[in-house]
Amino acid sequence: MTQQSTLLSQARNQSARLQALWQLATNRSKSDEEKAMLMLTLARDALELDTALIGEAKEGHFVIRYLVDNLGLFQGDEVCPLEALCSAATQGAQSYYFYHMQESEQFQNVEVVRSSGLQVYAGVPIWVGDEIFGTLVFLRRQCLAGHEFSNDDKVFMELLANWFGLMLLRTRQTQALQTQALTDALTGLPNRRAAELRFVEEIARARRDDCGFSIAVADLDRFKLINDNFGHGVGDEVLQHASRTMRAALREGDWIARWGGEEFILFLHHSNGDDAYAAVERVRLALRTRPCKTRSGNVEVTSSFGVGEFQSGDADISRTLSDADGRLYEAKRHGRDCVVASDGREGTTLWRAGMLQRALQEHRVVAAYQVIVDLVTGKPVADEALARMIMSDGSAIPAGEFIEAAEGVNLIHEVDRTIVRQAMARCTSSLENGSDPGFAHFVNLSPQFLARKELVEQMLEYAVSMCPGNIEFRGSRPIVLEITERQLLSDFERMRQDLQPLLDFGFRLALDDFGSGYSSFLYLAELPVSFLKIEGWMVQNMRSNERVRHMVESMVSLSRRLGITTIAEFVEDGETAKMLRDMGVDWGQGYYFGKPEL
Ligand code: GH3
Ligand code: MG
Ligand code: MG
Repeated sequence: MTQQSTLLSQARNQSARLQALWQLATNRSKSDEEKAMLMLTLARDALELDTALIGEAKEGHFVIRYLVDNLGLFQGDEVCPLEALCSAATQGAQSYYFYHMQESEQFQNVEVVRSSGLQVYAGVPIWVGDEIFGTLVFLRRQCLAGHEFSNDDKVFMELLANWFGLMLLRTRQTQALQTQALTDALTGLPNRRAAELRFVEEIARARRDDCGFSIAVADLDRFKLINDNFGHGVGDEVLQHASRTMRAALREGDWIARWGGEEFILFLHHSNGDDAYAAVERVRLALRTRPCKTRSGNVEVTSSFGVGEFQSGDADISRTLSDADGRLYEAKRHGRDCVVASDGREGTTLWRAGMLQRALQEHRVVAAYQVIVDLVTGKPVADEALARMIMSDGSAIPAGEFIEAAEGVNLIHEVDRTIVRQAMARCTSSLENGSDPGFAHFVNLSPQFLARKELVEQMLEYAVSMCPGNIEFRGSRPIVLEITERQLLSDFERMRQDLQPLLDFGFRLALDDFGSGYSSFLYLAELPVSFLKIEGWMVQNMRSNERVRHMVESMVSLSRRLGITTIAEFVEDGETAKMLRDMGVDWGQGYYFGKPEL
């Protein structure tokens, strides 16, 4: 016997190769993935073939799951030849063998088969449970010398396919079990155990990147009442709604888990205190504003939040969690529906104020501009500067979310000052660039700002430096100061005095939120108002409420007689815009025409 035929007879020794297969299958020191590759290699060599692979049927086509290839067949786009190699066995649910692929109907037109000179083919379907997973394929370039696959060969291949099927089934079952064990059945969120496992990964990442993170504990407010009043079924629906809403309100890269009962845990990546606070604040607002529809109708749901920070040097997460818990307790004591992030003794307002102060120092309070259009021509005629606080992750917090805090801690005038400056600078540069001098720029001024003589003087100095003399430009006065009517109520005469130097310089005046206060018409008579902004609530309710419509109509007719331009705020759709125009309102502002843009 020649050496080759000896080898051949060895390789063909069924019991030897089955033994090798069994040894591999029962090897405890190798992972399934390692075993899979070793098995394929073993089979390819034992059968004296060139290539062995497993093609997995996925969404209508095949992808390579495992490959042992001597021929370099699958370097490019492998979908096309794979299809031809794998589909017959999965469709027919049976094995196929060819010894002259070039001549077979199935393969003669397959480019890669012709160009590579493939001859021998075996395709065995792999069953995982009662589904076909894919195909175990063997290929060889030269015909086997004088014989076809023996019965033993075929049995060997079927056994191998069987082993792969069982291995894949076990993997699938383990994965399904793991998912079940780590998922909360009611909300579909990761459960507490999953959150704990993820914390281990996040801590490792934080150490690697030398960058901390924050976590927040959320506890739904008065949830027991919801259960007591509406029953547990509705309580469950509320939990589902709350988890969906909170998850949707998170930034990309953050995650949420159900920590237990009606408690949730929020992971906030790469967050310093301010960013984490802002991110959680957004979640809180989303929860309180998005209606929670249940079988018993809409249910109001709010949550309190406590935030803890993890520094990359911390030993573990226990301090972060206990800080967050302590602050959650503070939040509940503060009256619920709020976020406590810094040291528990500080209130939320103070925390927010600290954040605003830093943002002001770092020039992160900037103006966004919302267009105002002529309702008859549909053309832009003005814009309004609205304050935004930019967080370090690039997100912008709208004025509504920090103005109240700013008022509370005496920072509102600082916000006004920076926004007015930005709006004036923008106005000057657009005039220099030749834009329409008739285009008006609205900015908001608070009574707190106007009450500070030094600030008004500074503003005038700044205005003079921008346009020496006065602000008139080819007969127009582009800057309009918006005063909120509600605030005027306190001390009307003083306000008038405060405003005078600005009016003398050439600023025009708009009465903001008109219709929300009590003595609206009196102010119109007393102040040299050029514009009147009709309160958003009235605009939104005008179509459904006839009385509101009549009020708007009377505002319009009075303004007409006084030579005042009317502006409707909160115009959100074309119907409302048309109705306002028909009623004689001059200009409109709102999402229908454009959102505020930075
Ligand atoms: P607080 O604002 O102080 O948090 O008031 P609360 O009523 O939410 O506080 P408490 O912790 O006393 O009540 C939580 C309730 O949540 C009690 C428990 O029965 C209920 N709960 C916990 N898990 C579930 C759940 O999976 N489904 C339903 N429906 N209720 C749950
Ligand atoms: Mg609770
Ligand atoms: Mg609760």
